[in-house]
Amino acid sequence: MNPNTIVGLKRTIWVFSLFLLCTCNSKEYKNNMDTNKRAGLGDPHSFANLDEVIAGHASLDLKVDFNTKTLSGTCTWTLNRRATCDSLVLDTRDLTIHNVYQDDGTPCAFSLGAKHETFGQALTIKLPKNAKKILISYTTSPEAAALQWLDPQQTAGEDPFLFSQSQAILARSWVPCQDAPGVKFTYDAKITCPPNLLALMSAENPKEKNNSGVYNFKMEQAISSYLLALAVGNLEFKSTGRNSGVYAEPAMLQKSVNEFEDMQHMIDSAEALYGPYKWGQYDVLVLPPSFPFGGMENPRLTFATPTILAGDKSLVSLIAHELAHSWSGNLVTNKTWNDFWLNEGFTVYFEQRIMEKIYGTEYERMLTTLGFGELQNTIQRLNKAGKRKDTHLYLNLENRDPDEGLTDVAYEKGRFFLQTIESFVGRKKFDNFLKQYFTENAFKPMSTQDFLDYLDKHLLDTLSGAEDSIKPHMWVYGPGIPGNIPKVKSHALDKIDNLLLTFNKGGNLTKKETQDWTTHHWLYFLRGIELENLSNKQMKMLDTNFQLTNGSNAEILCDWFKIAIEKEYKTAYPAIRKFLIGVGRRKFLTPLYERLAQTEEGKAWAKEVFIEAKPGYHAVSYQSIEEILE
Ligand SMILES: [Zn+2]
Repeated sequence: MNPNTIVGLKRTIWVFSLFLLCTCNSKEYKNNMDTNKRAGLGDPHSFANLDEVIAGHASLDLKVDFNTKTLSGTCTWTLNRRATCDSLVLDTRDLTIHNVYQDDGTPCAFSLGAKHETFGQALTIKLPKNAKKILISYTTSPEAAALQWLDPQQTAGEDPFLFSQSQAILARSWVPCQDAPGVKFTYDAKITCPPNLLALMSAENPKEKNNSGVYNFKMEQAISSYLLALAVGNLEFKSTGRNSGVYAEPAMLQKSVNEFEDMQHMIDSAEALYGPYKWGQYDVLVLPPSFPFGGMENPRLTFATPTILAGDKSLVSLIAHELAHSWSGNLVTNKTWNDFWLNEGFTVYFEQRIMEKIYGTEYERMLTTLGFGELQNTIQRLNKAGKRKDTHLYLNLENRDPDEGLTDVAYEKGRFFLQTIESFVGRKKFDNFLKQYFTENAFKPMSTQDFLDYLDKHLLDTLSGAEDSIKPHMWVYGPGIPGNIPKVKSHALDKIDNLLLTFNKGGNLTKKETQDWTTHHWLYFLRGIELENLSNKQMKMLDTNFQLTNGSNAEILCDWFKIAIEKEYKTAYPAIRKFLIGVGRRKFLTPLYERLAQTEEGKAWAKEVFIEAKPGYHAVSYQSIEEILE
């Protein structure tokens, strides 16, 4: 049991809830969640009776079976329970529960509640009086939403591959758990996989394969369930410095190491900013292209998409982002998914500070300018869809899939709020504040209101007029972009604005004008094109001069393909098809499918491509696409 969990539990004010623990029907699931919410202890997306018991340590013993596409074995939870607590309610989704036992091997009565499409099923276990541990024997479904099982032909080396994606509430589809970010636990695990493969987790990891296929793991720092992670594949490791390294399939390893050669430097810069890295080793696992996100900050082992391997380090800010999560998110964790901006806004701010330290101010300004543009687009889109409330930093995601909160509002509006504070109080004061915030709140959950109180107490109350100038409540509980946001200026991108003036009047773009452009220059240019004035002749000119359709940089390709679809530039369609089938990163897929779905013809074509592409997508991606094409 990790001491932080116990302290957290003791500190909590016990609120007595009156609900009876029994098999959940759909009304009861809501009752459980409502009770949790009212008690201020629980989580609107979890069935768990967090006010009664905390599952503080997990011991996993799982066998990975590529034939049946299942994990099976046991999970033993060590409990920290109130004297009056007589049941344990865990979150599950599509799990088959075989048996439940207490410490001495006596079977325990259990029941599974009604199925909810997003939240899964409550597993209610009757707790014997003195039980301190509960062992659950179970098997996952081949359709487990967190897990993606890749056939050999879907990987670089033609070996089978498995990876998990637990955020936001998918951990429950492979481990019965209290699937709420505000609950932290330690874990150990024994994973058995085919002997020619290596298993890795968000834990202390092996560096090489062994002949038995049995690997043991230990995670001694407390984590939330969404940070539970597992990957199995033909993987090799290469160190990139004192406490950093890269895992990848052999064919991708050297390319990945070259791309991430600044990683150790990033860790050192991050530590210089906000204090020691608390997790020991920091490694990156480069996954096959079907990984649905850019990266996932699994502690000690970031999962990353291969689409950031641009060959020129131009997309490595993603690594800075995932690394920054080792403080914002993994150390100080959003208490519920309504507080998601606390994870992401802080991380984008921190990421840009790392990038600035390593690559300079002008580079950081380009990233910030692009981020601002994306925020404006997102807010416009949400307003148009009647979702003005989703432009608040603090979200109300109750009864919704927390995945809906994953927009640029949490990331970019969150970051600009912190930048606004910095601009009023000065960088030095703000850095001191953040360092103190990460240190004092390490391994604890943080709610939005608790953060605002902390901000007042430790920073704003000490400076006269700060609160009135910054207006934190307007940022957090109000819509859109507040007027006191600091101005962003990038000289490099200003030059592109001048080129766009000519181009948008039917002009040209020459190789000479773009000779020192990086990915970010291109993205800014492509996003600045006025589509209504763009002629077919200009499309052809851009494509001939700069080989945009046949490029290899996934970020530029995605922006170019968006334009190609809007302008029905059919020359690019075979390449768009190849991209949609080869890449599973949702950030790229969603805007392309959305644009295709705007016309009947485009939608029909998109559906045809989707049928072919779906087996290569993770559930997180294909469910979003299905919604678009419905
Ligand atoms: Zn993030």
